[in-house]
Amino acid sequence: MEEGAIIKHDIKKAPRTGDWRYMKPEVDKNKCIGCSTCVPFCPEAAITVERGTQNAERSGKKRSTIRDPRYASIDYEYCKGCGVCAEVCPTKAILMKKN
Ligand code: SF4
Ligand code: SF4
Repeated sequence: MEEGAIIKHDIKKAPRTGDWRYMKPEVDKNKCIGCSTCVPFCPEAAITVERGTQNAERSGKKRSTIRDPRYASIDYEYCKGCGVCAEVCPTKAILMKKN
């Protein structure tokens, strides 16, 4: 047990809720500003915000030309498609699509 009021969620011990998914969230990396607003709202702790170096390299642009190289990444083994992340995203960077 963790000290204090927050119990850390260990996603590796959680049931793989990705099989439940009917709708799939997709992150538009051109719209995502890496703000992490969506992260604490995800009930499955399936979102991480990562540095986008690989993305930047793939696009052929220098990192300095990219407005913000951080973007949300979703673990589809655990994402159950509830759509909360799409609702709370301030830039509407997450679109829910049929799985
Ligand atoms: S759709 Fe729901 S479960 Fe999936 S990443 Fe978004 S908030 Fe998390
Ligand atoms: S998907 Fe939206 S809420 Fe999540 S980090 Fe990107 S801009 Fe922020």
